[in-house]
Amino acid sequence: MRIYISADIEGTTGISSWQETHKGSGDYGRYREQMTKEVAAACQGALDGGADYIIVKDAHEDGKNLIHSMLPKGVKIISGWSNHPYNMVEGLDESFDGVMFIGYHSGGSSNGTPLAHTLSIDSIRSISINGKKADEFLIYTYAAHMIGVPVIAVSGDGELIRHVRAFDPMIKTVAVQEGFGGAVVSIHPDLAVSRIQKVAKRAVENIASFKTLPLDSYELKVEFKKHQDAYKYSFYPKAEQVGEYTIKYTSQNYMDILTLLMFI
Ligand SMILES: [Zn+2]
Repeated sequence: MRIYISADIEGTTGISSWQETHKGSGDYGRYREQMTKEVAAACQGALDGGADYIIVKDAHEDGKNLIHSMLPKGVKIISGWSNHPYNMVEGLDESFDGVMFIGYHSGGSSNGTPLAHTLSIDSIRSISINGKKADEFLIYTYAAHMIGVPVIAVSGDGELIRHVRAFDPMIKTVAVQEGFGGAVVSIHPDLAVSRIQKVAKRAVENIASFKTLPLDSYELKVEFKKHQDAYKYSFYPKAEQVGEYTIKYTSQNYMDILTLLMFI
């Protein structure tokens, strides 16, 4: 059984400031290690549940955060970025049986964590797909569903997890912290690790019960932080400006949506 894991850092237990997410500043080293422990737990749980091939995409910033030697032997890592439109799930294909998102976070314009954002922290205020707020979980879940691979487990902040459960209550989840204003209240980092391992095992054991929910048509709206960007990207082929800060783009092919997102 083949499992694909996409890992981010802003939904790692205890993380609450941008400094902690950047190499060479603040307590980055501590959170890089915790991110790695949580991913290692997901890998170990997947192995315990019956997985025999696991690949992890390091999907934060330069894609070089995870400490490979701390993961179970046999787990492969994709580090760096190929610039394929699959982006945070690059390397995923039809041969996989399930996807996990570890360390994921609430989307832009949400107050679920002080680190809430969707893709670009600097330029994007929010993204929606068919009227639904689209965080990175939803954007890359649709990518997995497009090729028939179900999402089976997610860890991250509480607001993200409520979004995941509303989207599909079958997905196994672990909420590691709750944001309020500029703060977060977190469970103990070792408890997060053991919960993620347990949930990953259960998800892989029950992998046959997960479904994919592809849509017939996708209406993407991107609200920018600067009106200049909405004007600029309204010239992307088939995009239109529908508000002072917002562009709209519609396609029946989700690959078109992913491709547009690579160019903004
Ligand atoms: Zn990130």
